[in-house]
Amino acid sequence: LSVTNVIEPHRICVCIRKRPMNKQELNRREIDVVSVPGRGALLVHEPKQKVDLTKYLDNQIFQFDYSFDETSTNDLVYRFTAKPLVQSIFEGGMATCFAYGQTGSGKTHTMGGDFSGKQQNCSKGIYALAAQDVFAHLGQRRYANLNLSAYVSFFEIYNGKVYDLLNKKTMLRVLQDEHQQVQVVDLKEVYVPSADEVIKMIQLGSASRTFGQTSANANSSRSHAILQIILRRNDRASTLHGKFSLVDLAGNERGIDVNSNDRATLVETAEINRSLLALKECIRSLGMNSDHIPFRMSTLTKVLRDSFIGENSRTCMIAMVSPGMASCECTMNTLRYADRYAFN
Ligand code: ADP
Ligand code: MG
Repeated sequence: LSVTNVIEPHRICVCIRKRPMNKQELNRREIDVVSVPGRGALLVHEPKQKVDLTKYLDNQIFQFDYSFDETSTNDLVYRFTAKPLVQSIFEGGMATCFAYGQTGSGKTHTMGGDFSGKQQNCSKGIYALAAQDVFAHLGQRRYANLNLSAYVSFFEIYNGKVYDLLNKKTMLRVLQDEHQQVQVVDLKEVYVPSADEVIKMIQLGSASRTFGQTSANANSSRSHAILQIILRRNDRASTLHGKFSLVDLAGNERGIDVNSNDRATLVETAEINRSLLALKECIRSLGMNSDHIPFRMSTLTKVLRDSFIGENSRTCMIAMVSPGMASCECTMNTLRYADRYAFN
C-alpha cells in the first residue's frame, strides 16, 4: 500500500446569522425580508417592480454550512462555529473566526456579547465563551502534559494602522521579515490565569474601542477589532503552541454616501473595501489550497497571516444580516460575499 500524499485543504466553515427585527425597523413598519427555511439555508424575499409597476417579492435562496435564525442564542451559534476551533488550537493549530456584515447587523453582539443592559440581560459573546472553553481544556488531563499557559492580545485596525486596545490605543508598526513572518511590534500580550481575567481584558479593550467613537478617526464600526487567545508552552522560550484570532470586522456597507466630498470618509471606506476584498481573496485561495495567498494586500490579512497557515488551521466566517427591507441591498451584498461556493 502506498501512502498517498494528499494535502487536505484548509478547512473553512461559512455560516449566516439573522438578528431579530429591532424597534426602529418595527416602528418604520419595515417588512422582514429574510427567512431561514432549513438547516444551512437562507431565503431573501427581495422586493422588485414589474414594468407595469406592480410590486412583487423575488425569492432567492442561499446555502451555507449553517444558518441561524432570529431565535438563535449566542450559545447556540458558538457551539457550531467557534467551539470546534478551540479544540484545534490545543492540537497546535491556528484558528480564525470572523464576524462579517453591515453596521447594526449584530457582529459585536455575537463576538463581544451585550454587557450594556441590566445585569440579567447580559449575554456572553463568542469571545467570552471561547475563553471559558480554553480554560476548561487547560484543566483537562489529556492536555496537562503539554504544560500550557494562556495569553491575550486585543487590537484594532483603522485605516490600515494597528492600535493596541490593551495599551492606551498606542499605534503599532507591522513588520515583515525575510522569512515572511509578520510581527506587530510591541503588541501587548497579557498572561491570563482564568476566563474571568480574559473577560476583564475584553471589557477593558472594548471600552477603549468605544471611547473614541466621537472623535472622527476612531469610530468602532469603521475599524476591525481582533482578540487573540494565545497558547504558549511553559518553557524557557515560551514557545507558541496555538493561537485563536477572533475578529469583529468593520461594517461592510459601501460608502455611507458615495458622493460625499468628505475626503476622510472616502479614504476610510476605500480602505475597508480593500481589506474585506483582500480577506475574501485570501480565504478563497486557502480553500483552493493555492500556493499563493495574497496576504500582502491589506494590513488585516498581513497581521492574520500566521493565523491562516499551519497544519491544523481552520477558519470560520459568520456573516450577519439585518432582516428589514431597508437593509435588503446590504444583505444581498453580504450573502454574495459569504456565499460558500465563492470560497470552495
Ligand atoms: P454591529 O456590531 O454589527 O454594528 P451590534 O452587534 O452592535 O451590530 O448590534 C446592533 C444592535 O442590535 C445592538 O443593540 C444589539 O444588541 C442588537 N442585536 C444584534 N444582534 C442581536 C440578536 N441576535 N439578538 C438580539 N439583539 C441583537
Ligand atoms: Mg459593532
